[in-house]
Amino acid sequence: MLLRIPLYLQIVIALILAIILGVLLGAGNPIIDKELINHLTIPCTLILKALRTLATPLIFLAIIHTFLTAQIPGGSGRKLVTLLLTNTLVAIIIGLLVANILRPGTWGNLTIESAIKAPEKTLDPWGLLQDIIPESVVKPLVDNNVIQLIFVALSFAIVLRALKTQQIEQGKSDYLPVEQFVTILFEAVIRILHWVIALVPIAVFGIVAQTIALKGFAPFQSLGIFVIAVILALFLQATYYLTRVKLGSWVNPINFIKGGSDALITAFSTASSTVTMPITFESLIQKVGLRESSASLGALVGSNFNNDGTALYEAMSALFVSQVLGQNLTIPQQLIVMLTSIIASVGAAGIPEAGLVTMTLVFSSVGLPTQYIAVLITVDWFLDRCRTAINVMGDMTVSALIDGKQQMKYVEYDPTTEVEAES
Ligand code: ASP
Repeated sequence: MLLRIPLYLQIVIALILAIILGVLLGAGNPIIDKELINHLTIPCTLILKALRTLATPLIFLAIIHTFLTAQIPGGSGRKLVTLLLTNTLVAIIIGLLVANILRPGTWGNLTIESAIKAPEKTLDPWGLLQDIIPESVVKPLVDNNVIQLIFVALSFAIVLRALKTQQIEQGKSDYLPVEQFVTILFEAVIRILHWVIALVPIAVFGIVAQTIALKGFAPFQSLGIFVIAVILALFLQATYYLTRVKLGSWVNPINFIKGGSDALITAFSTASSTVTMPITFESLIQKVGLRESSASLGALVGSNFNNDGTALYEAMSALFVSQVLGQNLTIPQQLIVMLTSIIASVGAAGIPEAGLVTMTLVFSSVGLPTQYIAVLITVDWFLDRCRTAINVMGDMTVSALIDGKQQMKYVEYDPTTEVEAES
């Protein structure tokens, strides 16, 4: 029965119940033993552990799966990668700028006593370089070392892709079992992730009830400012997309929004870019009037690993938590956040709350306590929807830019009529 209620609604219900319990327990002046109240955070600790455990296999398999299965026609590959990378970089820079200017973490006091601060890490480029090669292939998975993990995953991914291409040229198909194995394993990890995500409302309930019981409502002030900051940054990213579409393609930005509105609304309501993918694809061809090849590159390929909204959000969250802790991230540390956020956004599956999983890696890379992700969960049900819409808008933008300045022949653009695409 509970499972039929959409996740966001379950979280809202959990929030309401938690507020009631927190108030009953004292709302800042606990009426029972503090230790007992602290037990409320146990489900949250377990869920965070599970998310952390899943993060490494998820990123590892996502990288290999993407390289093995992406269908990129020759010639478009470089353009696609450049577009994806610049858009993601702009997203992260916008996120970091907004977080540095508004400093949402400095409003109100959100500190969690139980959070263990990981030792502060500073950037040592030589150390980083020496550390990039792991002592064994499985060590990055065991240690959750994201940089080493990416090194191993990319090595395998590039080689497997090359072998696949070679075999296809020779008419062989020995690569198929490996591809199927990776695909099944990737799907399996995502399924387990779904189980963990289904438990998120319980975590929200516990952490919010505990915080309100012990500290009242003051800690949530900075979260409110954080939500506003993220929305502002996502809005700036959307403006950037529209500017790029205007300057780099034949598509009129207003028609772009009108034609893509179905996809954007679906993204917001499902919080899943994967679920939205077929609608994005259809809208781009039928309503915006792009070529099928451009739409498939942006929507089908992009939706797998182009998550600018997620990258922006992860970078902002790291900065936010560092501000809450009064330990401002230095510029080199913010560079590490940029790097890991790019990877985290690539590794984030297009399903609700996936960004939270890979966020554990971003936090660990700069030594931020992952317990704070629990606090972010309370607002994530809403911010996830907003960033998913931006993820989808990013895919649409890439498609439009790949379509170029020349409109497809034979198709007169009219957003009010559904135009059948001819290739
Ligand atoms: N929900 C997002 C998406 O589907 C991923 C995320 O959690 O950031 O695109």
